[in-house]
Amino acid sequence: FEQLRVTDPEIASVVLGELDRLRGGLQLIASENLTSPAVLAALGSTLTNKYAEGYPGRRYYGGCADVDRAEEIGIARARELFGAEHANLQPHSGASANLAAYAALVQPGDTVLAMDLPHGGHLTHGSRVNFSGRWFATLGYTVRPDTELIDYDEVRDLALAHRPKMIICGATAYPRLIDFARFREIADEVGAYLMVDAAHFIGLVAGGAVPSPVPYADVVCATTHKVLRGPRGGMILCRESLAARIDKAVFPFTQGGPLMHAVAAKAVALREAAQPEFRAYAEQVVRNARALADGLAAEGMRPVSGGTDTHLALVDLRALGVTGAAAEARCDAAGITLNKNAIPYDPQKPMVASGIRVGTPSVTTQGMREPQMGLIATLIARAVRTDPGGPDGPTALTRIAGEVAELVREFPAYPR
Ligand code: PLP
Repeated sequence: FEQLRVTDPEIASVVLGELDRLRGGLQLIASENLTSPAVLAALGSTLTNKYAEGYPGRRYYGGCADVDRAEEIGIARARELFGAEHANLQPHSGASANLAAYAALVQPGDTVLAMDLPHGGHLTHGSRVNFSGRWFATLGYTVRPDTELIDYDEVRDLALAHRPKMIICGATAYPRLIDFARFREIADEVGAYLMVDAAHFIGLVAGGAVPSPVPYADVVCATTHKVLRGPRGGMILCRESLAARIDKAVFPFTQGGPLMHAVAAKAVALREAAQPEFRAYAEQVVRNARALADGLAAEGMRPVSGGTDTHLALVDLRALGVTGAAAEARCDAAGITLNKNAIPYDPQKPMVASGIRVGTPSVTTQGMREPQMGLIATLIARAVRTDPGGPDGPTALTRIAGEVAELVREFPAYPR
């Protein structure tokens, strides 16, 4: 880092500023986490220099013996950890992994059934502003208005009526477990592939805190940087019979040279995730999310579907008369980072939204437990209820930020 400070003080100060932000506030973005120093070391290594188009033992460049080892070790760890027949660690991101899965399994124009974006699905599940919605005939399934749980009857009805080539389950903002066996059944009934987008919860699967989709899915796509706590990136797990198609869909169809520093860092994260401490971590992430959802409910902020089984809670703020956008801004001013989020059947536009999404991967990495979740819920509630335009608003938000700083001092992110 000293070298960066000398060569580029401007960027060095950005890096330090971000570190200060991580250390000084509460990170409740459900898709973020705090990587270990070992993962960061692999990411900041000379492996970034290496061109390695192809796969271990089959590269288009010389000098790949060392990076081959990194990728082989990473693949072996992924296969073992998830009980998968095949793993590909090259996707640059979760969206790239999904693009490769589409490329491997379907053709442009084919019908794909996935969760509707406003109900928790991801952009790559059929949004019109994404390749998925532009190049495929995508259909969206929803959650039931009464339970706010996936409407499996609707999934089946849509599948029978439209005979999709691929069905996707897995979401960005769905707090409950997904019934993979039910999806498999529906996919089999109509002869569709089942792709599980486990981007959000693959880390919980690694830690045994939620059921694994691997036995049910043809292809599991994931990110490595969320609960899994690895570098920013993607990963694909699949059956051996689809291995060659998946590998070709990643390279050369959708990507060029792999980011070998990231592949090595994924291998490090997979080793960390195989340790007993990670199982304890994953279970605590879920317990913390439940405690946080309960605490918010006690403050009049309704958890969508009544609670959570995972690392995140989606919270309906309508009873408080505060929009998601306003809540996000108020919490930001109080040192609490979270995001506005549409809730199912949201009357507001996505950029305003009626809800917020909170997640516990980062605060759990910092060592916080249920008592701290209770405190965080009250801090969030106070911030959300504070009108920054009111006479005492700014002072009140600054006071909350002070209490947040006090809390995180006890549980430092990246201790000095
Ligand atoms: N799939 C799901 C369900 C996600 O939630 C996300 C990101 O939040 C992605 C895919 C995309 O991952 P990335 O941002 O790494 O492209």
